[in-house]
This record gives sequence, structure tokens and C-alpha cells, in this order.
Amino acid sequence: MQERILTGDRVTGKLHLGHYAGSLKNRVELQHQFDTYLILADVQALTTHFEQPELLQIHLRNVALDYVAAGIDPEKATIFVQSLIPEIAELTAYFSMFVTVNSLRHNPTIKSEAKDRGYQEMHYGFLGYPVSQTADITFCKATLVPVGEDQLPVMEQTRKIVRRFNQLYRPVLPEPRALVGDVPRLIGLDGNHKMSKSLGNALPLDSTAAEVQEKIKKAKTDPARIHKNDPGHPEVCPIYSYHQAFRKEGADEIYDSCAKGRIGCAECKQKIAQSINDLLEPMRERRAAYLKHPGTIDEIMIAGTEKARLAAKETMLEVREAMGLNYF
Ligand code: ATP
Ligand code: MG
Repeated sequence: MQERILTGDRVTGKLHLGHYAGSLKNRVELQHQFDTYLILADVQALTTHFEQPELLQIHLRNVALDYVAAGIDPEKATIFVQSLIPEIAELTAYFSMFVTVNSLRHNPTIKSEAKDRGYQEMHYGFLGYPVSQTADITFCKATLVPVGEDQLPVMEQTRKIVRRFNQLYRPVLPEPRALVGDVPRLIGLDGNHKMSKSLGNALPLDSTAAEVQEKIKKAKTDPARIHKNDPGHPEVCPIYSYHQAFRKEGADEIYDSCAKGRIGCAECKQKIAQSINDLLEPMRERRAAYLKHPGTIDEIMIAGTEKARLAAKETMLEVREAMGLNYF
């Protein structure tokens, strides 16, 4: 039997280059080798966006479209909607009985995201998202989880929860492992440590060629560099990190030319904007083809959700059996 992948995204906006480099590129490659499940995490989106639930239906379709535009093949991968799998909520409830509040409060991902969002206090659902994410992964017995580096502490917590469940009841759930892409964490256009949908510092995958040029033009560079011939510090420049991520062959040369003050920021930005546009062009073509038949995206999500639901029912029979809950 093929090993199963579970990964996905919160439906809080359009996917961006950070998603592509950190996880989506890996998923596109791995879908041929693994049984790939992609979760459209609408419940997890509510942990931070509960005041605007009406946006979910828009983001849901955008993210699904981003997947297929990026090269996910809906014949190979199962794309499904989190809230339509009630078994995930059930499993979350069982896990939450033995996960301590302290272990969640000390989770480095939770701490860093709470800080980024300026939370003084945390809502129960936000604090508990590592628990529901564990249910997202285990309801279909996935073993491999492609994620960005920011998610590693959550994955560690997931592994602990699974071990505890198996030890408390019966070993029915496999312990999943994280798989980080070539670019573990893409920096934001504003120089923030992470490009993120919610931080407004992202380059969306559906950007036009002109939008890419414009956003790259405005992106932060090495602040110490004022004149073209000033020696630069590529190691602190977001644009150089994009060269490393998306122009592997040319990145060393850029490093050298920048450090010696031989290339100006405008030319350096021009080169990376071109490479990003080369990367996005085939996605634009696939996106346009899907947009001619917009109903297809809904059909893909409905079929994927039906399939995921079957897997969920099978696992929950075993989970309930292990816990002695199959009463009748
Ligand atoms: P939000 O700001 O709403 O939380 P996000 O941009 O952090 O959105 P998520 O949906 O939370 O996106 O994350 C989806 C996946 O993409 C996760 O595996 C995450 O690690 C990865 N990811 C997100 N941003 C980046 C980034 N800048 N670099 C690498 N991976 C990333
Ligand atoms: Mg996030």
C-alpha cells in the first residue's frame, strides 16, 4: 500500500511564494509517489478569522484553484474540506482530554504566531490548533506531512499526542513525520522573518507579471546600501534570499556582485522578478484554463471530501474500538 501524505493550508487567503517554496512544490513532486491528501483547513482558518466566516467560501475556492494551478493533479491527490469531515472534530475532542494547556502554551509555533498577531490572550481554539491539526493528520492515517519550518514544533506535538493515544488505548494511529522543503522559511517582502498571508507581506501565486515586478521593486533590501557601488550584505537582504530560493544557479554570482558593489539593487531585482515570472507563467496558464470552467473546482472538492470521509469512518471505527466506545 502507498504511504499517505496529509498536508494543506488554512483558507485565509491566496497562496503565495512561501507556500510554494516551503511545501507546495514538494507536494506537486510527491503526488506521483504517495497517496496525497490535501486539506482545505477552514476550521483552522476560523481560529484567527472567526469574525469573518463569510470569507471562507471565497478563500476555499482560491486555495483549491492555487493547488491545481501549481500542478496538483486532482486525479492523483484528494482535495477535501476540513469542516465537512465531522470525524476530525470528534477525534480532536478525544485528543484534547490528555493534552495539557501548558504544553500548548509553550509550543514555540503557538508562541511565535501569537506574538506576530499581537495576541495578549489566546482563544481556546487558537491555543488548541495543534490538537485539531493532529486529528487532521491522523483521521486518514497519514505518515508524511510536508510543511514549512514554522510548523516543526506543532509536528513534534502531534507525534507526542499520537504516541500517548497509542499508549493509553491501543496502537491504531501511525506516528507521522514532517518533511520540510528546500526552502524551510521564505522571508516576507518587508523583511519579516516569514512571508505570510495574514502579515500582508506576500507575493501571491496568482500575481500578474506586472504585479510581480511592482512588488519586487518595492521589496526591502539591505538597508546599509545607499549607492549602487556600496558593498552590499546579501546575507541580510530578502531579495538575495529569493535568488537562493528561485535562482539557484545564479545565486552565488549575485552574492559576489552584491558584496563587491558591482550590481545595483534595481538590476538584481529585475533578475529575480524575471525568474519568479518564469516560475509563475505555467501556473497562470493552468489557472486560466480552470477559470473557463469554474464549476470544476467545486466538483474536485466535493469528490475529494467524499473520499476523505470514507477514510475517516474507517479510522474512527478503530479509534472508538480502541477506546471501548463502540457500545452497541
Ligand atoms: P496565515 O498567515 O493565515 O497563518 P500562512 O501564510 O502562515 O497563513 P498557512 O496556511 O498557515 O499559511 O501555512 C500552510 C503551509 O505553508 C504550512 O506548512 C506552512 O509551514 C507553509 N508556509 C507558510 N508560509 C511559509 C513561508 N513563508 N515559508 C515556508 N513555508 C511556509
Ligand atoms: Mg500560518
